Amino acid sequence: MKRRPLIAGNWKMHTTSQEAKQLASAVIQAANKVSGRDVMIAPPYTALAAVSTILSGTGVILGAQNVHWEEQGAFTGEISASMLKDLGCNMAIVGHSERRHVFGETDFMINRRITGALQFGLVPVFCIGETLKQREAAQTLKVLEDQVRGGLAGIELRDGARIVVAYEPVWAIGTGKTATETQAQEAHSFIRTLLADIYEKNIAGQIRILYGGSVKPENIDILMQQDDIDGALVGGAALKAEMFERIICFQ
Ligand code: PEP
Repeated sequence: MKRRPLIAGNWKMHTTSQEAKQLASAVIQAANKVSGRDVMIAPPYTALAAVSTILSGTGVILGAQNVHWEEQGAFTGEISASMLKDLGCNMAIVGHSERRHVFGETDFMINRRITGALQFGLVPVFCIGETLKQREAAQTLKVLEDQVRGGLAGIELRDGARIVVAYEPVWAIGTGKTATETQAQEAHSFIRTLLADIYEKNIAGQIRILYGGSVKPENIDILMQQDDIDGALVGGAALKAEMFERIICFQ
């Protein structure tokens, strides 16, 4: 089954609101050059309001880089799904490797974040991926299985499944090293089989699985040709308008 591709840009802790507006305008122009695919950008929280205004009425989706599970409360530094919806966000990245490995987020916390996002109508972009040490120890599939089962525990998905999974091998993020298309396809196919086991084959067939990890103009086309790769989550190259345009316009 063919899924609608999604190209997502994670701007991490970059851009002032002025820079964010300029970059967002360039993304809109790039997205207008192609059809049949979705484009999402996740600026830092401080630029969400400004970028939301620029994106209004265009097809480009606004995303956040994380989301808390409660609607409000004493959670200093956190932001809720309803607050993000209020700013025009429709997606939120959850479980990014930097959240897991730099800030110590666990599968349990990520599971709660996914639950919170879905409850308030945000589509979670649920990130998973193994470290180099785990890959070298032949633990990749076990790590992915634990992350998928832990992150999705108790989460019901029905037809039109409103969740996106992003496979991002930690060793490929921000390093310039990309998984080969064969390595990526192998992991994606495994993740889809796992999703079919947790839900149904039909639902697993609707879930978009993005690849992330040093995606660039030079490798996007071959990655997108793989059966189970439905898009890309892009960090560094999403900050360069020309590079991101080429990625959006993959062939
Ligand atoms: C990311 O941060 O999700 C990512 C994939 O970064 P990069 O493209 O820079 O490797």
